[in-house]
Amino acid sequence: MTVSPIENLFNVLDDTALILQEELSCTYLEAIAESGENLFHGDILQDELTELTKKRLQKKYSDAGLDSMEKEQIRKALQLAILKGMKESSQPNHQMTPDAIGMFLSYLTGKFTKGSKELRLLDPAIGTGNLLTTVLNGLADKKVSSVGVDVDDLLVKLAYIGANLQKHPLELFNQDSLEPLFIDPVDLVISDLPVGYYPNDLRAADYELKSDKGHSYSHHLFIEQSVKHTKHGGYLFFLVPNHLFESEEAKKLHGYFKEHVYIQGLLQLPMSLFKNEHSAKSILILQKKKEDVKPPKEVLMANMPSLSNPKAMENMLAKMDQWFKENK
Ligand code: SAM
Repeated sequence: MTVSPIENLFNVLDDTALILQEELSCTYLEAIAESGENLFHGDILQDELTELTKKRLQKKYSDAGLDSMEKEQIRKALQLAILKGMKESSQPNHQMTPDAIGMFLSYLTGKFTKGSKELRLLDPAIGTGNLLTTVLNGLADKKVSSVGVDVDDLLVKLAYIGANLQKHPLELFNQDSLEPLFIDPVDLVISDLPVGYYPNDLRAADYELKSDKGHSYSHHLFIEQSVKHTKHGGYLFFLVPNHLFESEEAKKLHGYFKEHVYIQGLLQLPMSLFKNEHSAKSILILQKKKEDVKPPKEVLMANMPSLSNPKAMENMLAKMDQWFKENK
């Protein structure tokens, strides 16, 4: 039986990670990071391994077939391995963005940036980099340089490996994104935001969207930080909770938006993608205000159909195309 290139690369990553996990007494996810690094460098970087183990690993890497693979195939194989690792140690705010959402964001960012040849892209909650690289693979007709930030060092390492294996230029920062960011302004932001309270009240005090009492919402502060680092006229795409505009902080958010951005769209994702109603999300699309840029005649609002309903999806995409014709 022949295996697909994605399955083959997954098997190489999986087999080698299992060996490394055992030999280095680390988690499977850490072993994936080590293995990906070996694969990228074409060498075994863990000096503590015996010559025999190094030979076993080399043999497996020689079957990876990386050179003849497309970037999307490499991303998917790595995604499968990371998903396996995350099953062991899942924390809701650290989960990889589901592929269906990544694909849809990739479609949307392509539409909104149609005229641009060069872009600078930021994901301030890059995690494993799966969402970012999905979008980058969809923007293949442009020259894109990107910046990613995350507080979790293992996830940053996985993002670095994914970008290297897919040959995407990526600048990475392992830090709290709500601390000062030393980056040049970007044309585009995409992010699956961490949702919840931000524990650092002192830092939150620097933000217009801080809460007047108690901890602030980190997703609100992330939006403000992202807008701050976006060029005027640039677009921002966020995955936000459906109840974003229903919290007690919503009034402040509305006021902030009125002053700094135009809301371009709010697309509610199908319920089937989420565990429950509470974790359901929408895509919020913003444009940072610029002197000669007008707001859209009408905000793009929709409840996205389930992806398993191709007819409804087709209708929805036709409606969106119409919106783009009238507004972009
Ligand atoms: N899109 C990512 C992917 O495909 O893997 C998943 C993003 S996940 C939903 C949210 C990320 O926010 C997590 O990786 C978490 O470590 C990060 N995060 C949470 N609080 C943060 C903070 N204050 N600064 C930077 N990153 C943070």
